[in-house]
Amino acid sequence: MDGDAFFASCEVALDPALRNRPVYVGGGRRGDGIVIAANYIAKRFGLITGMACFEARRKCPEGVLVRPHYNEYRRLSLEIFKRLKNYTPTLVPTSIDEGFLDFTDSPRVFGCRTATELAEQIRRQIATEVGVPISAGLGSSRWLAKLATEHCKPDSFLEVPEGREREFLALVPVKKLTGIAERRARALRSLGVRTLGEVARLPLEMLRRRFGVFGLELWLLARGELHETLEPSNNARTCISSATTLPYDEPDHEAALLFLLDQTERVITTFFRENLKAREMGVFVRFRGFEGDGRSVRFPAAQFEPRVIDPVVEQLFHELVAGQREPIRQVCIHFWNFEPLDLQPDLFGEHPEFKRRELHHALEEIEARYGPRSVKSGTRLLAESQAAHLLGEKAKCPFVPQREMEIKVGQLPEALRENTLDAVYEDEWRPLEPGDGGASGELPLPRTWGRSTSRATKFG
Ligand SMILES: [Mg+2]
Repeated sequence: MDGDAFFASCEVALDPALRNRPVYVGGGRRGDGIVIAANYIAKRFGLITGMACFEARRKCPEGVLVRPHYNEYRRLSLEIFKRLKNYTPTLVPTSIDEGFLDFTDSPRVFGCRTATELAEQIRRQIATEVGVPISAGLGSSRWLAKLATEHCKPDSFLEVPEGREREFLALVPVKKLTGIAERRARALRSLGVRTLGEVARLPLEMLRRRFGVFGLELWLLARGELHETLEPSNNARTCISSATTLPYDEPDHEAALLFLLDQTERVITTFFRENLKAREMGVFVRFRGFEGDGRSVRFPAAQFEPRVIDPVVEQLFHELVAGQREPIRQVCIHFWNFEPLDLQPDLFGEHPEFKRRELHHALEEIEARYGPRSVKSGTRLLAESQAAHLLGEKAKCPFVPQREMEIKVGQLPEALRENTLDAVYEDEWRPLEPGDGGASGELPLPRTWGRSTSRATKFG
């Protein structure tokens, strides 16, 4: 399933006055940078994702430009997935508005004669209860289901019945497949192949020699013989990170550090919620002009306490900005190499981690009763007095941050792209050589990262 023009649809769901009007959501620091979503009415005027907002205004003067409300999108997304979960044994979300459902037995279990009947029922339920239109496709593999979804968009459902896959796929261009890197698409073109129909006619050996397992899967898909079982996603965290572009380039490095420490505090609270502590940590600072540098440490033992973590964040930050005069554009903190928080009490029925967790729970209860931030840490107080201008409740995009989107739609010139952080997806961002920190048992030693890898290298 996939939400239709999701961010724009959410805005309409949140404000009924926008219904039946062309609506587009603007990204960037001030919400008037580039179009990050446009509803289908706006699309009819030629508005597309990635277009500059002033261009959109020119094309569609009656269109309504809305600033993004990421926290609301996240909430509505959750509402959708909660409902979907009732209809399937396996649900694998892949982004804020996309996911795969195992639909094998669902229609029968819910007393429907056809898959279409149940799919329509679910789509109707979500449209009325959440107010956001979704589309869905059914097929024997994830690739096929996704192509079917795209084919029937917006606000529709399409099943590719067994035995008719090859017919459906014959004219689909290879580059429409998700996860197919430009390099592979080019390699296929060099074999004279543009569509899946053409792939189906190639000898299997040729594809196999050239692309390995991918070649085999592609061949099976093209011939309608790829049958996948949907595996539940592995939810184990590999990385928790936060990358924040400051509201403007900050010349005062100490103010940026306070902001970074505040972000660190926020990230650490997820450790308790998810019962984790981290062995490795990295700090990344990007300056105006997009030049950036990062360092990381490996702690002698996994850590979760701000008391231990904060001074190291400070140390890394100071090393990174030493000798730099440029204002700071973006700060990032991230943790990886996790171990479970060990909550076995010691001989005296106590454990430092246990105590700390109790404290965390107590704070959560206080917040639930008296509102967020009714108890503040010293770091937060200091940040509020000296870096308040950076602390505005700026909602963070949960899955596709602005820069990522800009890269995706080719807004950034090639030269800048190379030097740009790639996936800052909250749980995905990794340094170049994970695990290559200081030896265990030593004091944390900062390590410089190389440039972050480009998406093409990472997934290609
Ligand atoms: Mg979508």
